[in-house]
Amino acid sequence: MSLEKDYYESLKKFVLDQGFSLFGVAGISEVKHEFALSQESLKKFDKAICLGKRLLDSVLEDIHDEPTRIYFHHYRQINFFLDRGAFVTANRIQELGFQALPIPASQIIDWEKQRGHLPHKKVGALAGLGWIGRNNLLVNKKFGARFRLVTILTDMPLKEDKACEGDCGSCQKCLNVCPAQAIRPLREDFDYMACFEQLKEFNRRGIVGQYICGICVKACKGFSEE
Ligand code: SF4
Ligand code: SF4
Repeated sequence: MSLEKDYYESLKKFVLDQGFSLFGVAGISEVKHEFALSQESLKKFDKAICLGKRLLDSVLEDIHDEPTRIYFHHYRQINFFLDRGAFVTANRIQELGFQALPIPASQIIDWEKQRGHLPHKKVGALAGLGWIGRNNLLVNKKFGARFRLVTILTDMPLKEDKACEGDCGSCQKCLNVCPAQAIRPLREDFDYMACFEQLKEFNRRGIVGQYICGICVKACKGFSEE
């Protein structure tokens, strides 16, 4: 086994043993100029490790036409799990003699554009974990959109996964559930502003303390049971 494959397999085991549901590695040389981090500090990193944690079906099934307080709590708990796991994994990588920078799972640094340090879903797609679906989320074949992501940048020599080539196909399960009609048959037509206005409305109603919804996440269950 090559050194890169060896490191990949042992790190994957380390991550899955923590309870993560998904692990993938992407080369980032072509995309890191898009990240909202200093290009000087990005120089040393050529890979991103993407970790995913599946959401609980029991929490999502209770969502109907608006997010619930339990979903809000679950959302925060899963972000805590992701950030903690990314920290533990980055620490492991450092102990092995390499550099690793965990990127917060859900820290907005540009409120106007609703952007964090980097787009985890884009990194996840490059790492082979799924495709960007009609709901504008990363969609995994097995879990649908029912998971969340975190990313670790590293210089560790790791085998890279192939970018995902799947797509939503003929599925349109999320189209009619969106209260803002933001989801369209063509993924490129997704209406970001309509979605964001709806999230602001949920927030104004005092149901949740963050811009979250969960309705199209619930609708997107993956394809394994079909
Ligand atoms: S998050 Fe809510 S408002 Fe936004 S696209 Fe999904 S269902 Fe529609
Ligand atoms: S519910 Fe279907 S159409 Fe919507 S994002 Fe998921 S796979 Fe794509």
